[in-house]
Amino acid sequence: MSEFDLIVIGGGSGGLAAGQRAAEHGARVAVVESHRLGGTCVNVGCVPKKVMWYAADLAEGLRDAAGYGFALSVGGHDWSQLKEKRDAYILRLNDIYATNLAKRGVTLVRGRAGLLDRRTVAVADTRLTAPHIIIATGGQPVLPDIPGSELGITSDGFFELPERPRRVAVVGSGYIAVELAGIFAALGSETSLVLRTGAALKQFDAMLGESALKILGEEGVRIDAHAVPEKLAREAQGLRLAVRDGRQLGPFDCVVWAVGRASAVSGLGLRSAGVGCNADGFITTDKYQVTSTAGIYAIGDVTGRAQLTPVAIAAGRRLSDRLFGGKADRHLDYHNIPTVVFGHPPIGTVGLTERAAREDYGDDNVTVFKSSFVPMYHQLTSRKPRCDMKLVTVGPEKRVVGIHVIGPGADEMMQGFAVAVRMGATKADLDDTVAIHPTCAEELVTLR
Ligand code: FAD
Ligand code: NDP
Repeated sequence: MSEFDLIVIGGGSGGLAAGQRAAEHGARVAVVESHRLGGTCVNVGCVPKKVMWYAADLAEGLRDAAGYGFALSVGGHDWSQLKEKRDAYILRLNDIYATNLAKRGVTLVRGRAGLLDRRTVAVADTRLTAPHIIIATGGQPVLPDIPGSELGITSDGFFELPERPRRVAVVGSGYIAVELAGIFAALGSETSLVLRTGAALKQFDAMLGESALKILGEEGVRIDAHAVPEKLAREAQGLRLAVRDGRQLGPFDCVVWAVGRASAVSGLGLRSAGVGCNADGFITTDKYQVTSTAGIYAIGDVTGRAQLTPVAIAAGRRLSDRLFGGKADRHLDYHNIPTVVFGHPPIGTVGLTERAAREDYGDDNVTVFKSSFVPMYHQLTSRKPRCDMKLVTVGPEKRVVGIHVIGPGADEMMQGFAVAVRMGATKADLDDTVAIHPTCAEELVTLR
């Protein structure tokens, strides 16, 4: 039996952050990881996705170059070479994570962990005990419950594709669907985006999903709306997706399901430790990340709240500061979390949607400022994707409660504006800030 002050189950974004911070405060920490260190983000999420986004961004730049006087002939794109380099980069990151744990004296236990009781964790024949246990096991992509769904792949399979499929369908309407459809299309696949309703990105301000679908359409992505998947079958020409109204979509070489993620809790022994989940299978916690069992905490995707890497990291670090760093009230505030959908162009958003602001504050108290324009960069290119921006303000002082942008640079723009929203900036504060010219971002401080 090995004794620790803290056992962390899961060596992904949240688990590593929590474990390392606790060790920095002097705690004896064990991190248990069943697969590759770094979790979803590093191995099958943010990092390899952003590499693919950069490739797609370059592909668009190469097409735009003619508008700036370049006579380029591009000799194709080698997907398998890109994959090889991307995989090698990720292996380097896996090693760096192991080194970082070792440097801080964190014990890394390789294997699958399960709870035996509220203080004991089993990893094969090994028993670990601690007064504090953090569950940071993340999640995994789900397949729809229809015949033939196993013929498709998920985002995990996307990162294993050895070659670019020529004809691809991405099914779903959230972050992953929009991001992967954009990557495939920019890199040259015939791409369909299959939505079961008429909208995408429904968790965000409606302007963002509408613009994203419009731009994807203009970039050649076929939008199959109101298409509820019923069956996927392999035929001689490729994969066929049958949808509820009788349409047969395809044939495709590849179908990617991007229809959400479930919590990774199977085999964790939650019941033995009295840890409860909500109806969707995510572990419930209070604002201090404490589960239904004292001494057991859950952070990150396994809680189902704002499934983002910086959220898992922030929740983990704050929890360890509270448990081992003497900061009794330290916890993560889940309001005003900025986020980016890495589409083409990117989408950045923070705070309340216009609709939520109207519901929360009443129509009379909400003032919205909007701008829609073709960015200067596209004045010289043949394609003309518009940049759309919206500022949602409330009250007579026009406090900014939401900022929503789709357009070039929205990804980098949003971090600084999120600070302003968090600090309670008003429209007058934005107006009083001198613009940076010429940029897209300057529109946000010059809106009328
Ligand atoms: P994870 O990172 O999933 O880590 C959980 C770890 O626990 C895994 O390593 C797993 O192997 C391990 N584990 C599970 N069960 C056990 C067990 N019983 N015993 C031992 N170990 C176990 N977020 C962003 O902020 N920006 C992005 O651009 C972004 N892009 C994404 C793209 C894709 C395709 C996907 C799928 C996700 C993306 N995300 C992004 C979300 C982000 O990856 C997650 O929010 C983040 O990884 C969650 O961290 P976590 O620590 O909760 O879980
Ligand atoms: P999302 O929850 O974002 O979107 C999934 C959507 O798929 C649902 O909202 C639903 O939309 C649709 N859907 C569900 N079931 C079906 C079905 N049977 N058939 C067709 N469509 C269906 O999940 P994702 O998988 O895209 O991403 C998971 C999470 O990972 C995200 O929520 C995000 O937190 C994180 N992530 C973050 C990224 C980033 O930060 N850039 C990038 C990628 C992922 P509808 O109701 O409209 O049909």
